[in-house]
Amino acid sequence: MKYKQPRVKPIYPLYRLNENEFRIGAQLGITAEFNDPEKQMWELAKRLDGRNLREVINEVRELFPELTVEDILEGVQLLDEEGFIEETFKDNGKKVPERYKPNVNYFSRFIGTEKNRYDIQQKISNTTILLLGLGGGGSNILTLLAGLGPKKVIILDYDIVEEGNLGRQLLYREKDIGKLKTEVALRALKEMNSTIEIEAHNLKITTPDDVLAFAEGIDLVICAIDEPPFIAQRIVNQAIVRANLPCVFGASQVSRGRVYTVIPKVTGCFDCLNLQYSINDPQFVEQFIGFRNINFSPPTVAYAPGIYQLTAAIVDEAVRVITGYAQPRSLGTQYEINFEDGSSFTHPTWSRNEKQCPTCGKGNISDWEIFQYYENKK
Ligand SMILES: [Zn+2]
Repeated sequence: MKYKQPRVKPIYPLYRLNENEFRIGAQLGITAEFNDPEKQMWELAKRLDGRNLREVINEVRELFPELTVEDILEGVQLLDEEGFIEETFKDNGKKVPERYKPNVNYFSRFIGTEKNRYDIQQKISNTTILLLGLGGGGSNILTLLAGLGPKKVIILDYDIVEEGNLGRQLLYREKDIGKLKTEVALRALKEMNSTIEIEAHNLKITTPDDVLAFAEGIDLVICAIDEPPFIAQRIVNQAIVRANLPCVFGASQVSRGRVYTVIPKVTGCFDCLNLQYSINDPQFVEQFIGFRNINFSPPTVAYAPGIYQLTAAIVDEAVRVITGYAQPRSLGTQYEINFEDGSSFTHPTWSRNEKQCPTCGKGNISDWEIFQYYENKK
């Protein structure tokens, strides 16, 4: 039998509305209403609590002798298709530390009877992440990772904690002012989750080799550095393409944040995006030069509630890429969050330009004006 010990997911309420109708779920978008005056479905759903399905079938047939085994299995199938049931996996769950059980319950929403929600947490717990930057993005990303429990995190940064960081980099304390961010972050992560291995390196990333030096054993990179703007991301992109590592990039603007993910040789890379802009937007290069010519160096614009929305989206995207619990939102596109009105949208997609991209394809840097400017050759 396909089902063993299916149960109505405990995250959903199962309740009667009246004599004829019952519901599973209460959240808008995941509530189903069943018109069931004979109460056959109700009696079935009530019994799907993790016991052996054969036992459930026998009990339901005692109540309704007119139902065949197939009829009852069809009912189970319907609940499965609607996403309301899961397998119980009692033993498997015992291995998951209590601190991750609420995560597992969240993943329950996204799996049916064929997948194991504990596997999703297990995938996170087997992952080694390289986190670049411990500023407004990286420090909050590290806090979120502490809750999710990857196997290991390697952190890179070169800065010290300053008073001006405390409004949004809530990993740091007043007493940390003047200390290296890597040292403070290492201690903080150990205090938050002692099961995660952590390695910290005080280093400024200026070349792809700076990133590649830490690529061994890494499953995913999170790029939370954006200084100098675009140039930093381009350096990281070159490294992750060479190392063939997926990377989630995040960047904050005045009142919006952006997330995009590069999976080398699958999605377009950052330079494929530069090419796409060069080809389709006549003002792209002009804007790049205009910015460079004024040496645009704005004061730090950072509002913690906005940064939290952005870093939450970055980490969720990382978990999507690692586990596939749900479709990643930023593969080959830029997922943008507007802090002003709470909306989000995705930009036009960009694909890998294998023929012309100098970084992930067979293209030549000297063929493209934009890369001459990036590399200060023009
Ligand atoms: Zn490319």
